[in-house]
Amino acid sequence: MSGTLYVVATPIGNLEDISARAIRILGEVDLIACEDTRHTRKLLDRYGISRPLVSYHEHNEQPRAAELLGDLQAGKNIALVSDAGTPLIADPGYRLVEQAREQGITVTPVPGPCALIAALSASGLPTDSFLFHGFLPPKQGQRRKLLTELKTLAATLIFYEAPHRILETLEDIAATLGERRVVLARELTKIHEEFLRGTPAELRSALAERPSVKGEITVMVARGEATETESDDTPLDAAVEKLIEAGVPRMEALKTVARKRGLSKRDVYKKLHQP
Ligand code: SAM
Repeated sequence: MSGTLYVVATPIGNLEDISARAIRILGEVDLIACEDTRHTRKLLDRYGISRPLVSYHEHNEQPRAAELLGDLQAGKNIALVSDAGTPLIADPGYRLVEQAREQGITVTPVPGPCALIAALSASGLPTDSFLFHGFLPPKQGQRRKLLTELKTLAATLIFYEAPHRILETLEDIAATLGERRVVLARELTKIHEEFLRGTPAELRSALAERPSVKGEITVMVARGEATETESDDTPLDAAVEKLIEAGVPRMEALKTVARKRGLSKRDVYKKLHQP
């Protein structure tokens, strides 16, 4: 009989954030597949667990998945963990789980921490509908294209982002999505945990004032409707100016105001330039 593949969530910072079941399973399995064996060993040492570790990461996913599937077929029980949080969520493991399922192997989740859920749960943004898009593309053109595609979605948008790219990303959010509420969750469950809230332009200038931006960041953007509090009585030019002041490029500001008022961009442009 084949063994079971356990998909085990581990802490995203604070090592206390691990379930009793996860500790038990990690102590019982024949093998633990992890991204960085040194990193996972620290967690295991903390809980007095000593099981064989094997590396499974994005660079050896294909061959290692085949080996692990062989072990599972031979009856071994295996736990899959990542460096932090839930495996497969912006982390390796998809190939292994997909193929295990195809081969009729039992796959069982052992739920626990996940940065996007932790961030969303304490963000104060709507949680009824959200879209998680992992990491945004590193190139600005592709990033803006993707953000523009997500613009009309009636859902809180959630991204993972590297600290060295966060200023650029906030600029791109301002340029494509306009003046929305944004929440940055940084270093969740760690000593320097913080939630920063504001428009993309406000957050950009707040972070730009710091000597450097470090740590792990989850970015959340409120859905479009949430910002549509502006009364239709606001003069068009004032509405456009407000967005420009928030860092939105002029043409984008015209487009946003037009959409909110049910007008075309051309109409707004004409009205603004009426003598
Ligand atoms: N599998 C993980 C999970 O369940 O959340 C995510 C792994 S992904 C490679 C790492 C990214 O998740 C980081 O770059 C950051 O965007 C986000 N992240 C991880 N830990 C975090 C934390 N403690 N606080 C905020 N964001 C975090």
